[in-house]
Amino acid sequence: MADIIQLLPDHVANQIAAGEVVQRPSSVVKELLENAIDAGATTIKLIVKDAGKTLIQVIDNGKGMSVTDARLSFERHATSKITTADDLFNLTTKGFRGEALASIAAIAHVELKTKPEQDDVGTHIKIEGSEVVSQEVIATPTGTSIAVKNLFFNIPARRNFLKSNTVELRHIIDEFNRVNLAHPSINFVMFHNGSELFNLPEANIRQRIVNVFGGKTNEKLVPVEETTEVLKISGFVGKPEFARKTRGEQFFFVNNRFIKSSYLNHAVNAAFEGLLRDGTHASYFLYLEVDPKSIDINIHPTKTEIKFDDEHTLYALLRSSVKHSLGQFNIAPVLDFEHNSSMDTPYDFKNKQASSPAIEVNRSFNPFKDEKMSGRHSGVSFKKEAGGSWDSLYVGLESKGNTNTQEFSELQLEGNQEMPSMFDNANDEVTQKTFQIHGKYIVNTIKSGMLFIDQQRAHQRVLYEQFLQHITIKEAVSQQLLFPLTMEFSTMEIAILSNLKEQLEQTGFVFSKMEDDEVEISGVPVSVDASKVSQVLETLINDVENEVPDNHFSQTDLIAKSLAKSLAIKTGQPLTVQEQEHLVNSLFACKEPSISPTNRATFITMQVDDIDKKFN
Ligand code: ADP
Ligand code: MG
Repeated sequence: MADIIQLLPDHVANQIAAGEVVQRPSSVVKELLENAIDAGATTIKLIVKDAGKTLIQVIDNGKGMSVTDARLSFERHATSKITTADDLFNLTTKGFRGEALASIAAIAHVELKTKPEQDDVGTHIKIEGSEVVSQEVIATPTGTSIAVKNLFFNIPARRNFLKSNTVELRHIIDEFNRVNLAHPSINFVMFHNGSELFNLPEANIRQRIVNVFGGKTNEKLVPVEETTEVLKISGFVGKPEFARKTRGEQFFFVNNRFIKSSYLNHAVNAAFEGLLRDGTHASYFLYLEVDPKSIDINIHPTKTEIKFDDEHTLYALLRSSVKHSLGQFNIAPVLDFEHNSSMDTPYDFKNKQASSPAIEVNRSFNPFKDEKMSGRHSGVSFKKEAGGSWDSLYVGLESKGNTNTQEFSELQLEGNQEMPSMFDNANDEVTQKTFQIHGKYIVNTIKSGMLFIDQQRAHQRVLYEQFLQHITIKEAVSQQLLFPLTMEFSTMEIAILSNLKEQLEQTGFVFSKMEDDEVEISGVPVSVDASKVSQVLETLINDVENEVPDNHFSQTDLIAKSLAKSLAIKTGQPLTVQEQEHLVNSLFACKEPSISPTNRATFITMQVDDIDKKFN
C-alpha cells in the first residue's frame, strides 16, 4: 500500500493553530499587548478600527527586534522566552509558546516595524497569510509596531462569525483592561476609530483602577492586604453598597497575569456574604503573588485558567483577608437591611442630585391616572380622550385595526362588524369589566369565557412594540428636562452607550454629552420618569453585555426589549380599573398581543366549556 501520511504545509498548520490562538479581534489585542510588555515597554499604544475588524495596531517602546529576530518572530515555535522545558516552571513572561505571531500572520495582513536601541535603522516586514510580501530597511523609533489588518481575510467563515462592533469592541476593552490593570506602571493609550478611549498614565494600582473606571470609583474601594508564607494578596474590593447588577468589575491577577477562577470568586463572595443586596455582585481587583513554581499556568494558548498547588489554603486566606478588610472599614454596621430597596435612588444618581436637581416637565405624570375611558372599548383601535395623558405613553400604537383583526378572531369576539368589541357590556361605562387578582393578573370576561392577562408581560409587550416603532419608524416625542441629568459611567459603558446612541435618541433620549466617564441627558422619552433613567440605562448596558446581538436589527430589538423590561409595570403593582382596561386595550392593539417580548404567554383564556366541566 502506498504511504498516505503527509506533513501539513506550514501555512496550513499555522492556520489551524490560529484557530486556537485567535478567536476574535480581542485575542489579537491580548497577544500583541503581552508581547509589548514582555519587551519591557513603558508606553504602549493600542489603535483599533471598526472594533478590530479593520485594524489592530500595537506600538511599544520596548526593546525591539534585530533583523533576524524580526523575521524569525513569525515562525511557529519561535520564542525568545524559554529555552528549556524547565523554564516553563519559572515563567515570568506572558508568552512562551512562540505561536501568536505565526498564527496571526496566517490569517491577516500584518505589518511589522521594529528597531532595537543599538541599531540605527529598523526592519519593516509585510506578511499576508503567512507569506512575506516585503522586507525593507526603515527609519523607525526604538521599539515595535505591529499592525494587523483585515483579520480572517482568508477565512470568511470566521469573519462572518464575528459579532457586532459593539460586542467585539467590548471584548477588546475587556482585554485591554485586564492587561493595563495588571501593569499600572506602564502607560497605556487606546484609540478607537480615531478617538481616544483611554489614556492611562503610569500609576499605582488604585490610581489605575480609578483612571479606568472613572473618578467616582475611588471612594468605593476598600484596600485588601495580606502577606503570608505562601501568598501575598493586595488590591481592592468594592464597598458592598456600590455592588452592581453587572458582574463586570471582577478581576484576579496572579503574578500580574489576569486569570479566571470560579473557585477564588467563590471565596470573595463568601467574604461578602450577607452584605450584598440580591442580584448584585461585588467588584474586586485582587492581585495575588505566589511562587511561580506553585502554579501551573494552563498551557492552552488563550485560556486564562490556572492550577494552584494548594487551592484550599488560598481560598481560606483570600476569604479571611477580604472579610477582614470589609470589617476593618466598618462596612457591615452601616448597612440597613430592613429598608425597602425599591425606594432607593440608584447611587450614581443620588450623588448627583444636590448639584443638578432633576426637574422634568410634569413630574407627577402617571400614564394611567386621570384617564376617562371613552366608553366604547373597541378592542381593535382604542379611543383616546382628547388630552388624555396616556396617549403620549402609547404613541405609535393607535393601530388602524388592520393587523389586529386576525388576533381577535382567534378570541371569538362578540360584536358587530364596524365596532368589534372585545368585551361584554362594552357600552356601559360604569360596569367594571376587569379586575385584578394577586396584583398580578387582570381578569376579563369575553364572549367565550374568561381572559387572564399577566399584567407585567402585557405591559412589556405594549412598551416593546412602542419602542420598536420609535426606533425603526419614527422618532418619539421627547420630554425636555429643565436641568439635565448627569450620570457617571465607566469608559467601557460609555463605549457601549455611544454605539446605541442613535437608536436611543429615536426613542426620545437626548444626550447632550457623552464622553470620558460622564453622560449628560437633557431629554427623556415621555414614558420614562427621570428618576428611573440611570436604572434604565444600567439595565440596558447589562443586557447588551450579556446578550450578543449579531446585527443592526437585533440591536434595535435588544434596546426595545431592555427598555420595556425596565419600564413595564411590575407584578404586585395594584392597578385601578381604568389602568387595567387601558392596559388590556393597549395590549390588544399590539401586533402580537399574545406573547411577551421574551416569548412568554401574555394571557390565557378559559372557555365557558372549561368552566362547565369544573362544575361537573
Ligand atoms: P511568544 O510571545 O510566545 O514568545 P510570539 O509569537 O508572541 O511568541 O512572539 C514571538 C517572539 O517575537 C517573542 O518571543 C519575541 O522575541 C518577539 N516579539 C514579539 N513581539 C515583540 C515586541 N513587541 N517587541 C519585541 N519582541 C517581540
Ligand atoms: Mg507572545
